[in-house]
Amino acid sequence: MTFRRVVLTVVGLAVATLSLASAQQRPAAVNAVRLYVFEAGAIRGLDPKLFNFTREELKEVDFTNIAYLVVHPKGTLMFDAGAIEDSHFKGDGAPVTEGILTATRPLLPQLAAAGYTPRDVTFFAMSHYHSDHTANANAFAGATWIVQKAERDFMFSDKPQGIIQPGHYSGLKNAKTRILNDEDFDVFGDGTVVVKSAPGHTPGHQVLFVKLPKAGPVLLAGDLYHYPEERTTGRVPTFEFSVEQSKASRAKIEAFIKEARAQLWIEHDIATHAKLPKAPAYVE
Ligand SMILES: [Zn+2]
Repeated sequence: MTFRRVVLTVVGLAVATLSLASAQQRPAAVNAVRLYVFEAGAIRGLDPKLFNFTREELKEVDFTNIAYLVVHPKGTLMFDAGAIEDSHFKGDGAPVTEGILTATRPLLPQLAAAGYTPRDVTFFAMSHYHSDHTANANAFAGATWIVQKAERDFMFSDKPQGIIQPGHYSGLKNAKTRILNDEDFDVFGDGTVVVKSAPGHTPGHQVLFVKLPKAGPVLLAGDLYHYPEERTTGRVPTFEFSVEQSKASRAKIEAFIKEARAQLWIEHDIATHAKLPKAPAYVE
């Protein structure tokens, strides 16, 4: 065997071994839809007035922060990306506090515990651009980003104002993108995972419908509501992009969940998520 042939054989073996290794590292395909719930910290010290409530009118003032991974037989969808960047954790197990935001665990290790890395994420969507939902968005720039046009336009406008940190999501600018025009998107084509347009809180706020085989249909509401009391009183926060749109979106989504007989999970609601299994366990 010539030297050249030996080198080629060794390289060939290495390539074969590498591709075998990466194929093995891919998570196994699932037979049914499942939903992972990741804990992305808390928001404490909020002023109820921001949401048009007094302290006495709310059962719980603090927020939880949550991110979700939906796993479908045809691929995966990450929904929201946390409030604190993983790079801000020091690796010593200490919690990170940034103003009213605090988190005890970074996001990607929770994803890894469930058996997934960002490169296993097929689709990425966020409820909206507020910085308590976008912290690790750049990690998912290799996925196909599902976003409403009005939201994307605002995110990449010259100097976007408000609760927004463009550095969180700068990598999405050149990501493969599925742009929606105030419309819904059936992610895997079988009606089990549907991104639904629900503008108002921001110009292109969206919610996620997931049909789970055992838990049944669930509507992940993003910030369509923050407190359950918003749902019962019809009050909207003081900082909506459009109060009129928010009210219309709430009416539309409420009609949808009634029709679909879906549960509604408010993303910041502590009581809703306290009952749910957290990754690596999942809801099915
Ligand atoms: Zn929020």
